Amino acid sequence: MTSIATLGSHCALQVLKGAKDEGLKTILVCEKKREKLYKRFSFIDEYILVDSFVEVLEKQCQQTLEKNNAIIIPHGTLIAQMSSEQIESIKSPIFGNKWILRWESDRERKEKLMREAHLPVPKQVKSPSEIDKLVIVKRQGAAGGKGYFMTASEEDYNKKRNELIQQGILSEDEILYIQEYAAGVLAYLQFFYSPLKGELEFFGVDQRHESDIEGLARIPSEQQLKHNKVPSFNVIGNSPLVLRESLLDEVYKMGDNFVEAAKRIVSPGMNGPFCIEGVYDENAKFTSFEFSARIVAGTNIYMDGSPYYSLLFDEPMSMGKRIAREIKNAKESNQLDKITT
Ligand code: AMP
Repeated sequence: MTSIATLGSHCALQVLKGAKDEGLKTILVCEKKREKLYKRFSFIDEYILVDSFVEVLEKQCQQTLEKNNAIIIPHGTLIAQMSSEQIESIKSPIFGNKWILRWESDRERKEKLMREAHLPVPKQVKSPSEIDKLVIVKRQGAAGGKGYFMTASEEDYNKKRNELIQQGILSEDEILYIQEYAAGVLAYLQFFYSPLKGELEFFGVDQRHESDIEGLARIPSEQQLKHNKVPSFNVIGNSPLVLRESLLDEVYKMGDNFVEAAKRIVSPGMNGPFCIEGVYDENAKFTSFEFSARIVAGTNIYMDGSPYYSLLFDEPMSMGKRIAREIKNAKESNQLDKITT
């Protein structure tokens, strides 16, 4: 019997509930400190208790996964807590394309893939000395926005960077990525590409709520100036959004282009869930500053199905359930190798 395994964080509940609903066995790799939380949910069949998620790489854990014919569903925590080399060395099959996760973690590769997909990306600013307008400074990998900051001059860049180093948020040798700031309405576009059907599905849109940048926007400007700490973009939660219907055609085009580009440059391509993240400006023009090449936590808002999936499926369909359905279909038609790496 095939099982579904994931790390206990991010979107584990949704993923495992979806798997259970599809009749698959569910396994949670769970940090001991979170065991009490996850034990509240009856759809988790088996626990692999660990002190730290990197234990997934150890023999004992791998043997349990192997014994259960487990397919691992990768999510943001896997990427945040393990290096690309570590992820690629996992023996169990990983849903989607584990090779593309390196392209998500590495800023230079990320930009290359986005350009290949013709996504309108903000300009990169190569060095702090070239900062002459509002920019956002980012860390590598899926840092969740923590340690990001905005600035408009080299002097202020150095001041903020030093402050974050002193606070232990950034390390001295960390290579930061500087990008022009794109102002507008945040929209995180969530997709699923099925290599079995050769079809792209648009699942939904979410917005992230980030602290304390969002909190700052709620206080008058003179008090903002007294906020003597570098504001962060730490994600606290997500909320749903639906787009003007006239924007949907372009949304599908961006998704299709991304799938095509991924097929060309990182085989076997962008299989499974992914997200294109950006902002719509006042002319409804989209600028994309990121992608996630796996399920995003923003899909958690649609655990009972999303508005756009209700147009495609005659049953409540979460992203977790969609993944499990794909695995079931692949298993039945002997095509598991098409949807895992
Ligand atoms: P990221 O890790 O790139 O998804 O960025 C985290 C957050 O920073 C996003 O959710 C946005 O709020 C903000 N952000 C990132 N890049 C940009 C950009 N180029 N322009 C405006 N906001 C951005």
